[in-house]
Amino acid sequence: EKARLAKLRRLPSITQDGEEVELQANLEIPAELPLIAQAGAQGIGLLRTEFLFMNREDLPDEDAQVAAYTQVVEAMAGDCVTIRVLDWGGEKDMEALAEGIGPFHAGPNPALGLRGIRMLLKKPELLEAQFAAILRVAGTAAQQVTGQGAPAGQIRILLPMVTVPEEVRQAREIYERVGRRLRRKGVPLPEKMPLLGAMIETPGAALAADAIALEADFFAIGTNDLAMYTLAVDRAEAEVAHLYDPLHPAVLRLVQFATEAALRLRMPVSVCGEMAGNPRLVPLLLGLGIRALSMNASAIPRVKQMVRSLKIDDCARFARRVMEQGDPKRIQELVMGFGQDG
Ligand code: PEP
Ligand code: MG
Repeated sequence: EKARLAKLRRLPSITQDGEEVELQANLEIPAELPLIAQAGAQGIGLLRTEFLFMNREDLPDEDAQVAAYTQVVEAMAGDCVTIRVLDWGGEKDMEALAEGIGPFHAGPNPALGLRGIRMLLKKPELLEAQFAAILRVAGTAAQQVTGQGAPAGQIRILLPMVTVPEEVRQAREIYERVGRRLRRKGVPLPEKMPLLGAMIETPGAALAADAIALEADFFAIGTNDLAMYTLAVDRAEAEVAHLYDPLHPAVLRLVQFATEAALRLRMPVSVCGEMAGNPRLVPLLLGLGIRALSMNASAIPRVKQMVRSLKIDDCARFARRVMEQGDPKRIQELVMGFGQDG
């Protein structure tokens, strides 16, 4: 079994009927990099940058960030690296960072407070430093060429916890201003600026995905927070854990709505929550139109095995059946029974 999964590493992630499905890795700490190479990931679909800000009293400066991103981009040797700017707040402890940026009021309900892009737009110096570091790394990567002759380091930037198009517009303004400043200083930048995408991880963002799509260059659907906010179930609250269910039809309908908004504009869209790493959910996600999944590296071989066993037509038919259901229990049964009843 182990040997079979290892062999999968070199096989393409492609369905029986020839549809390519991009399988990327989520990265939380650089120590996971060797695992990502081992798993045969096609790049990083979600680089969580919170690790840079943890366990320290000051803030990492631009140079420290450049070093960290460079390590990841070089390890990926030309494959796509999607760097998500700081998503602090919510269940991610706020206290430690507060020491570096001054008093911080987490509010009565941190998950609904100053978190993700909201916090970064309140503290634009954080966002500026992060954009600058990413652009410098992208500039260096663009100058290098890998053995295959492909430009090294296709870098993308992802904004967490977006709820309105205005947040993407404001972030882009800052992004472009940082780019102009670096260019004036003679810092080499890539010819094409890295794409700026939005996480779709709140019901508001999902239902307004058509408007947000006009401002963002790509979507990454974060089903962890999407399920939490849709179902009003805290990710970290054991008492209600039984209600935390990404297969709840409300969550699936939001995923479907956001996916279709992106596909209409031919905009890249991926799913990067835990859901994406569950092989049993792959038929449904492909059936909804998703062709890119980002997950824990260790999940990639089994997900790829599933992808390689599927036909898109079957997935689409299956997704239509699932989306007619209103009871999460029934959906669970359908998902577990996929492929068993023809
Ligand atoms: C998500 O919310 O689904 C997600 C991928 O982001 P995180 O788990 O880092 O909140
Ligand atoms: Mg999230």
